[in-house]
Amino acid sequence: FAPWEDPNEKPLIEFRGVTKRFGDFTAIDDVSLSIFRREFFALLGPSGCGKTTLMRMLAGFEAPTEGTILLDGQDIAPVPPNKRAVNMMFQSYALFPHLSVWENIAFGLKRDRMEKDRIAQRVDEMLRLTRLEKFARRKPHQISGGQRQRVALARSLAKAPKLLLLDEPLGALDKKLRQDTQFELMDIQEKTGTTFVIVTHDQEEAMTVASRVAVMDEGRIIQVATPDVIYESPASVYVADFIGDVNIIEGRATPVPDDGEGRVNVAWAEGQPPIRGTTRRRFETGQKAWFAIRPEKIAITQDRPEDAANAVRGKVLDIAYLGNISTYHVELPTGHVVKAQTANTRRIARRAFTWEDEVWLSWTATAGVLLED
Ligand code: ATP
Repeated sequence: FAPWEDPNEKPLIEFRGVTKRFGDFTAIDDVSLSIFRREFFALLGPSGCGKTTLMRMLAGFEAPTEGTILLDGQDIAPVPPNKRAVNMMFQSYALFPHLSVWENIAFGLKRDRMEKDRIAQRVDEMLRLTRLEKFARRKPHQISGGQRQRVALARSLAKAPKLLLLDEPLGALDKKLRQDTQFELMDIQEKTGTTFVIVTHDQEEAMTVASRVAVMDEGRIIQVATPDVIYESPASVYVADFIGDVNIIEGRATPVPDDGEGRVNVAWAEGQPPIRGTTRRRFETGQKAWFAIRPEKIAITQDRPEDAANAVRGKVLDIAYLGNISTYHVELPTGHVVKAQTANTRRIARRAFTWEDEVWLSWTATAGVLLED
């Protein structure tokens, strides 16, 4: 059992019908959500969707207008920020420039009047955890951006919070360092067993680090699920489109009556055979539907594959060679432009097709999902 599937597991954090208004603007709209111990939970969504506001309410910097937030079963409303077992690591790490790495990490412990020996022990532990032993005496300006980020992390974990909030923690790092640091974060989260909640607008980052992802839009949570479920079974066109690359084709559904297997045909263009798919959702005949399929689920071939559930002819518009994969834009006779991706496992793959080539695109009946909006 993952904790969120275990009926006996009590959530560490529970939002119950939480709404936050700023004047007459609703930043968070009736959010209910449970986060469990040891989770690495990601809040994902575009700028302005309310991620930071949700997190600031957890930290205690904002109070909900309506609803309750429970930490370990206790309403946290009356608990001031510094008394919550919650720590927040900010986008700008705000290290003290005049203090050494060691002193930066020790700062909160000293303020709490922890005993000297215990402080030393705890700081050393944190230095080891974040692989900063060698830099203990340096000042923040004498270390790299990635190392500064680790100091900030060590400092936030020093007091062993139950919950660590990370607001776009890797925003200042370049892509390569960012990816390495994501794995480091996962490693540190696992070693400490602390519950992490990360705010990010970067879907790759959320998918990499998180045990579960909440996708937000305009103050609401649209879907909460593991990264693979979000990717393979998005709840809506919005989620499908926000996570990774996707082709979305609008049409009208015709369920195959009484077949029990969720088969459905989607009429999408005059003179084209319907898309054949399967779905667990209910569609009425003639109901508007959006067929969503990931580029890597579409095969691109010179000849029409035999027995393909779906096959359409098109012309290659352009190709992006990305090393491990190539992405093709293929124009159909209907004017639709479809993205198909091939894995370049063999060296010749990059030259498989070229622009203006006539090709066939094909996919199985279960390769895509049918969405209502
Ligand atoms: P970003 O990724 O850009 O940080 P976000 O998803 O974290 O975005 P929030 O910072 O939570 O978004 O803001 C959500 C909405 O609430 C925004 O439209 C913002 O303008 C508004 N908002 C946030 N704080 C306040 C405030 N103190 N007063 C008025 N409006 C606010």
